[in-house]
Amino acid sequence: MNLIADPHRERPTQSPAPIAACVGLTVAFGSRDALVIALDDVDVSFRDGETVALWGPSGSGKTTLLHAFGGLVEPTGGVVFWRGAPLSSLDAAARARVRTRGIAYIFQGANLLPAFTAYENVAFAAVCAGDRPADVELLALELLALVGLDRKADHLPSELSGGEAQRVAIARALAQRPRLLLCDEPTGHLDTDTTARMLEMIDALQRRLGFTLVVATHDADLAAGLGRAVELRDGRVVGHGR
Ligand code: ADP
Ligand code: MG
Repeated sequence: MNLIADPHRERPTQSPAPIAACVGLTVAFGSRDALVIALDDVDVSFRDGETVALWGPSGSGKTTLLHAFGGLVEPTGGVVFWRGAPLSSLDAAARARVRTRGIAYIFQGANLLPAFTAYENVAFAAVCAGDRPADVELLALELLALVGLDRKADHLPSELSGGEAQRVAIARALAQRPRLLLCDEPTGHLDTDTTARMLEMIDALQRRLGFTLVVATHDADLAAGLGRAVELRDGRVVGHGR
């Protein structure tokens, strides 16, 4: 399957509307006497095809913000937009489509299914995203080749290094053909060299496939190597920079 000409893939937006945005986003956890304000009146927008670092110390609200875009946490206040439409205005089927086809996540640990091979982890994601079984095999193998792991397709996660497992996680996320790839401290468990190589790989894939890339990180060097940076502190946006 040609990933770039894939008919299942959502087309880039033609309108100037950002792919995803939030306005006045507030998320509070807990009850009144033990309230944690994880996000406090946050305005952020991600344009189609750009790369953004979401930078801030631990506890600043990065994960909560990524979860809000996927509809994984409910806002206490404010609005999350997906391609110009409030997420809350979408019906259940449309929200599910955003989660399966629109947005993909890569987490700190690869979180692969331990009893599945590298190939099966990627193929399963494609099946979940609604690909026809006839298309899945070629797609999964093409994605594993794209991250340089076609020769390890039959390996279990326990037979892969940390960097290799994380590359399988990238292939798995791309099996969804997302328009927005959200990476949450994706290199947290990796050494410096592996981190650099992995980011180069994500960057090259981003240029080839054209998705919007958002990388949450506490690492200033890593954030500086990406495009635009949005700085979070205590649940608030405190800076924008290059
Ligand atoms: P980061 O990813 O930048 O480390 P998080 O978004 O995980 O930050 O957390 C922001 C704040 O919200 C922290 O104070 C955290 O303890 C709190 N928090 C996050 N998720 C929950 C939750 N499910 N229940 C209660 N508090 C939470
Ligand atoms: Mg986090």
